[in-house]
Amino acid sequence: MGRLIVVSNRVPLPDKRGNIPAGGLAVAVHAALQDKGGIWFGWSGKSVGANEPGPVSTRENGKISYVLTDLSKKDMDEYYSGFANRVLWPIFHCRLDLAEYARREKDGYFRVNRMFADRLLPLLEPDDTIWVHDYHLIPLAEELRRRGVKNKIGFFLHIPWPPADILFAMPIYDQILRGLSAYDLVGFQTDHDLDNYISCLIREGEGGRAADDAASPSSASLTAYGRDFRAATFAIGIETEDFARLAANSRRTQTVRDMRASMGDRALIIGVDRLDYSKGIPERINAFERFLQDYPDRQGKVTLLQVAPSSRSDVPEYRQMQKQVESLAGHVNGTLGQIDWTPVRYVNRSVGRQSLAGLYREARVGLVTPLRDGMNLVAKEYVAAQNPDDPGVLVLSRFAGAAQELKGAVLCNPHDSEQTAQAIERALSMSPEERRERWRGMMDHLLAHDVQAWCRDYLRALDA
Ligand code: UDP
Repeated sequence: MGRLIVVSNRVPLPDKRGNIPAGGLAVAVHAALQDKGGIWFGWSGKSVGANEPGPVSTRENGKISYVLTDLSKKDMDEYYSGFANRVLWPIFHCRLDLAEYARREKDGYFRVNRMFADRLLPLLEPDDTIWVHDYHLIPLAEELRRRGVKNKIGFFLHIPWPPADILFAMPIYDQILRGLSAYDLVGFQTDHDLDNYISCLIREGEGGRAADDAASPSSASLTAYGRDFRAATFAIGIETEDFARLAANSRRTQTVRDMRASMGDRALIIGVDRLDYSKGIPERINAFERFLQDYPDRQGKVTLLQVAPSSRSDVPEYRQMQKQVESLAGHVNGTLGQIDWTPVRYVNRSVGRQSLAGLYREARVGLVTPLRDGMNLVAKEYVAAQNPDDPGVLVLSRFAGAAQELKGAVLCNPHDSEQTAQAIERALSMSPEERRERWRGMMDHLLAHDVQAWCRDYLRALDA
């Protein structure tokens, strides 16, 4: 059995004692790497100013080698902050209005992918299986194929794939669309993403399902751009059991004790997101205000805790959003708050895993209302963290990938503040029996489809 070569933009390195970062994808992928032995390749996160990056650096840990490359400042600006975060991210999240296409940045994106291919090439052995992650590295397989690589190469897209009319508005969309055909297996989060991808191929007149394809909504044998390959859905999960245990053991943590003391018998509603326009945080605060206006009896009795650590502060839209969220929270608190009640608590800092697990468990409602999201792990964590005897209710945007799995959630349209307000009220007034029944179904699903299963299923399919 050959080795596994994982390639991602950033590499979650183990600490000095060899402990891998807690939580999610990193744990599952590490387990697979530990099993087969292999390499995790990616950007070190460092930029070397105007200089060309030096040779790769390698760190060994058991059967895993971490191979890291620096980027020049120009590479970082064009490939990462530029094309990946200011073109692909907004377009794949259906925000054409926020995409800032520049030819220079596109060149940087393809240049860094060529550099990744050049640096990976000498490390490869003929029976290695290569697994590439996410939108930063779509052209990587094409670059490797150009260099004669015949290995199995898989790709997993962690973010949504957009509908054809949105994708086609992006200059050079055809290079991105064609790039995926160089892989052997393309993984998407949901059936909708897979369907959008196949529709793009068909609309482009470049291929589609192969003649012998079984017409499943979750997998496809494709022929496009003269290549035969497969695409399928693999919804990413969380470490369900571990997270549930963490939440159950969190009662005595200081954060949870402080939170409980400050809440009295008020109900807690929680939102947790990176500060990103795809997460619908301003819309959520507006919907919460609407809820307090439409159901005035709830005033003084509920608090929305919004945890939203900043991300990508080098991108102007993200800095503007920070101001916007602060101002909206201030507006609701100013107009509806009372001396002894702050309706919205906004925390612009990252909260650790254990505290987060405890806060989820304290919250009567998990309010997860992205405008568009590949999966949304917060929704899954909220469910896993609940007390089985007295679970809270998940209010979930229908535009989160997780909505296709979490059938026990109260679904809402985050663009419709009245409907979201109704969903919050429905969640708060739900009977204990209904809460338990909805939660049980979702929890069983999350136990059966955790992140280890996701990783195993993907690699099995790539191997097949
Ligand atoms: N998260 C965290 N602390 C915070 C906010 C978020 O640890 O203060 C974690 C959260 O628990 C989840 C991840 O960040 O595991 C966010 O993943 P998600 O899929 O919801 O969104 P993404 O940020 O990947 O778009």
